[in-house]
Order: sequence, then structure tokens, then C-alpha cells
Amino acid sequence: MRRLCVVLGDQLDLDSALFDDFDPAQDCLWMAEVSSEAQHVPSHKARIAIFLAAMRHFSVVLRQRGWPLEYLRLGEHPHETLSQALNASVSRLAAQQVCCVQPGEWRLCAALRAAAEQAGARWIDYPDRHFLCQPDEFADWARGRKQLRMEHFYHYMRKRYRILLDEQGQPVGGAWNFDARNRGSFARQGPGMLPAPCAFQPDAPTREVLQAVERHFPHHPGSLEAFDWPLTPAQAEQALEDFIEQRLPAFGQYQDAMWSGEPWLYHARLSAALNLKLIHPRRVIEAAVDALQSRQAPIEAVEGFVRQVLGWREFVRGVYWLRMPQFAEQNILAHGQPLPWLYWGGDTDMHCLSECVGQTMSYGYAHHIQRLMVLGNFALLLGVRPEAIHRWFLAVYVDAVEWVELPNVLGMSQYADGGHMVSKPYVASGAYVKRMSNYCQHCRFDPALAVGEKACPFTTLYWDFLDRHQQRFAQHPRTALQWRALSGKQAQLQAIREQAERWRRRLAEGAREPC
Ligand code: FAD
Ligand code: SF4
Repeated sequence: MRRLCVVLGDQLDLDSALFDDFDPAQDCLWMAEVSSEAQHVPSHKARIAIFLAAMRHFSVVLRQRGWPLEYLRLGEHPHETLSQALNASVSRLAAQQVCCVQPGEWRLCAALRAAAEQAGARWIDYPDRHFLCQPDEFADWARGRKQLRMEHFYHYMRKRYRILLDEQGQPVGGAWNFDARNRGSFARQGPGMLPAPCAFQPDAPTREVLQAVERHFPHHPGSLEAFDWPLTPAQAEQALEDFIEQRLPAFGQYQDAMWSGEPWLYHARLSAALNLKLIHPRRVIEAAVDALQSRQAPIEAVEGFVRQVLGWREFVRGVYWLRMPQFAEQNILAHGQPLPWLYWGGDTDMHCLSECVGQTMSYGYAHHIQRLMVLGNFALLLGVRPEAIHRWFLAVYVDAVEWVELPNVLGMSQYADGGHMVSKPYVASGAYVKRMSNYCQHCRFDPALAVGEKACPFTTLYWDFLDRHQQRFAQHPRTALQWRALSGKQAQLQAIREQAERWRRRLAEGAREPC
């Protein structure tokens, strides 16, 4: 055989470079479901299911094209890892070359290449055309910059693709970003009637996958009861249209808001479909820009959305490939606490964490601010070891692939790289959670208090964090102001330190991974 062409679970793209010169007479496609991909971090059942179900749907389309495909189903072959399975297929089929689009994880990229070469085949990888900035272009952009800032990259991408620019090349609406209009909360009256996002009830092949996941991974975290994610390009398109019509107009204003019992609010729910490559970011961006042109959505919504997809999404991927593999080892703040059991669904009185973890376990989803300012913020304030929180984020979200998860967690949310990606640590006390949500109204703690029985753990740990990391941040121009507030807390500082230490000890008890 000339070539074995590997299609990974997050490469479900018919326009992929892999198919450009695919010759069914000499080449064979190859897909495999293996248990180790669900187990190298203890994956949420919905995360396992979305990959397997989307892969099986994609394999049907490949077969309809009459293309030869070797598809190894979970439980129907003896291999635990993708490398073992690939090595065996390459040897058996005597493939001369193994071709693959660049995998989304450094680990997998190295392992598959080694497996192919060990079996005597040449490894060839293609660029992933499902992104708008390739790693070498990002490296050119980054060259000579001391720090990488998303905002600068975002301007570059807007100009490169001429998105939201007027005829003079100036930003539409008179500004590059409308961030200040993206921070609305629902105040006390709440969000009112929210449009329910379109749901995709599992069809027969998906139900089969859900049963297989329950059978093979019974002790994994999370539930499959509400599983309704888009699994095909047609469903992803439908989900996009639903978002543009129903939720994009208010997306900008309420992008950062949170509310008990409301996991979706005005968010797109498109990250998993984008990351599996069921829909192209160009299509998603065009649809949003069209909504501005037809006056369906205001500029702060459209620009805010474009910034996430064209800016943040491409930026974090660029940083990932630029900084790996050392990136994964970073721990500049020398944090070493274990991840509390409450992250895996253990009981907690902290209502904000109970809500965000609860919906994560139910759906495999939390929106950006829940991930950054509740789940990530708490881990950072507590001083959790970056690798432990990275493993959690990689395990529990349906959209989690390392190229996007790791920079968001280690770089943006944990400041583990010392500020290469963001200018200051994202830390906030309970006051922020109170301002952006109704969580504190249902909580036994008081976000205004740092010490005492009713003190909010976020607030205690926030002041303790400022205290512990004074030396690093108090003199820095971007953080000095935030740290200056510590001088007003001197009288309470010893009590805060002691209370923070009690929280650290209590939350370390019983810390473990679920399987
Ligand atoms: P919306 O809020 O509606 O945003 C629209 C789209 O913008 C998303 O679908 C996504 O493709 C893109 N986007 C928004 N923010 C980011 C970002 N920071 N990085 C990359 N893309 C972004 N996103 C993932 O896809 N996978 C992850 O594993 C992941 N882990 C995260 C971990 C942390 C600690 C943080 C702070 C963010 C993480 N994100 C991750 C980014 C973001 O939270 C999700 O993309 C978003 O919540 C997905 O929901 P949505 O589709 O409803 O997005
Ligand atoms: Fe969270 Fe503190 Fe508010 Fe409770 S009081 S919901 S712990 S921020």
C-alpha cells in the first residue's frame, strides 16, 4: 500500500488537505477508537461520546464516497493506544507512508510519528486548513515580541482577512473592540425568558455510542442524560443559524454574565463543533458579520464574537505550537495544592462552584467567564498545581483539545507562564462573582467578608493571594494598583492568612481523581 491516511477524532473535515491527492486505488483511510484517549485524563462521559459519535457519523460519509477505510471500533480490537493500533495496521498493510493532518496535541503528534516510523513507514503531516493562522505564520508574527498580546494579534488578523474593516481599512464602528459594552450583568431581575438553543436528540448510532461509553467507562465523571450536541456538519450549520438568530444580538452585552440554573444564556455552544472541524471558523465569522450588515445584531455583539473566534481561538493555538512542549511544565508561581474533590462533583457550600461544576458534570459545558473567573480563579487563588487543574479542564469539557485548553488554562487562567500570554493574573474576590451573577444570593457565605464564619472563601483567598505574591506583583506597572489595596487590609492580614491556610488544609483532604 502507498499511504495510510489517518483521520483523528477532531479532524472530521471533508475539505482537509489529507484528501487532496487521496487515491482510493493505492491509499487507505484509517480511524480508530481507543480507550487510552478517554483515560489519559479521566474524561467526562460526554466528551468521550461526542468524539466517538461524530467519528462514526463521519465514517459513514467516507464510506459513501467509496473510499477504503479501516475503522477500529472500541472493544473490537486489542489495542489500548492509538500508537499501538497504528503500528499494527501499518505493519499489516505494509504502508509506505503514514499521512495525517497536524494533530491537535503535541503528545499525540510525537507518539503517532514514532509509531509510523517504528513500523517502517514515512510520516507526513499536512497543515490543518481549519484554522486561519498556521503555526509558522504565528511564529513570524510573534518573532521579536517580548510578550504576546491577543489584542495585537487580533488587529493583525482583522487586517489580514479584512474583517469588520471599512473601505479605508479602519475598524467598523470606530473602534477595534467594544469590550466595555461586553460586561453587562442581569442585575437582580435576572435574564427573563431565554431562547432555548436547538438540541439534537441522539439518533440510533449515537445511542449506540452512549451505551458503549456507559459500558466501557462506568466510573468516569459526568452524565450523558442531556447529550444533545451537534455531530455532523449539517447539525453544526443548524446550530450556527440558531445562535445567529436567537442569541447573537444579546451575546455582546451579556457575554460575561452568569445566572443560577442557566448554563447557556446567550452563548453560541459552537466550540465543540468548531474543534471537531464540523464547521469552519470562516463560515462562523461570516455569519456573524452578515448579521451586522443586515442589522440583526449590534456591533458590540458581532465584534465581541469575532474577537473570540478570529482573535482568541487562533491566538491560543499559535501560542500552543510556539511554546510546546515546555509550556505544559510551567509553574512560575510555584503552586502545589492538589485539586479539591469538589471539582469532580464533591459537595460544597460555595454556590458559585457548585453551580459551575454541576452544569459541567451535567453537560460537559461551562461558558468562558465561569471557566475563567469561577473555576480557574478559585484554583489560582487556592494555589492549585497547574498540571492538576490543566488535567481537569482537559477532562471535563466537550470542546477540550489540548491546543486550545492548555494555553487557556496554564497561560490565561493560572498565569503559570509568568505573563507571556496575559498582562496580569485573572484573580478576583467574591465581589466580582456577586457583580456578575446571582450566585451569592443563594450562598451561605458573604462575598464582602474575608474573615469569620461567613467569610467567602474567594475573598479570603484573594487577599491571601495578593499577600503571598506581593513581591512579584506589587511593583509591576500593570498590577501595582490592584496590590496597593492590600495596605488597607493590614489589620486583618494575620487572620486572613490563618483562615486561608485552614481552607487549603480542608480542601486538600480527600483530593483525588475519580478514576
Ligand atoms: P462563546 O462564548 O459563544 O464564544 C464563541 C466562540 O469563540 C467559541 O465557540 C470558541 O470557539 C471561541 N472562543 C471563545 N473564547 C475562546 C478562548 N479563550 N479560546 C479559544 N476559543 C475561544 N475553549 C475550547 O474550545 N476548548 C477548551 O478546552 C477550552 N478551555 C478553556 C479553559 C479555560 C480556563 C478558559 C478560560 C477558557 C477555555 N476555552 C476553551 C474557551 C471558552 O471558554 C470556550 O471556547 C467557550 O466557553 C465555548 O462555549 P461557546 O461555544 O458557547 O462559546
Ligand atoms: Fe461564591 Fe463567595 Fe459568592 Fe458564595 S459568596 S457564591 S462562595 S463568591
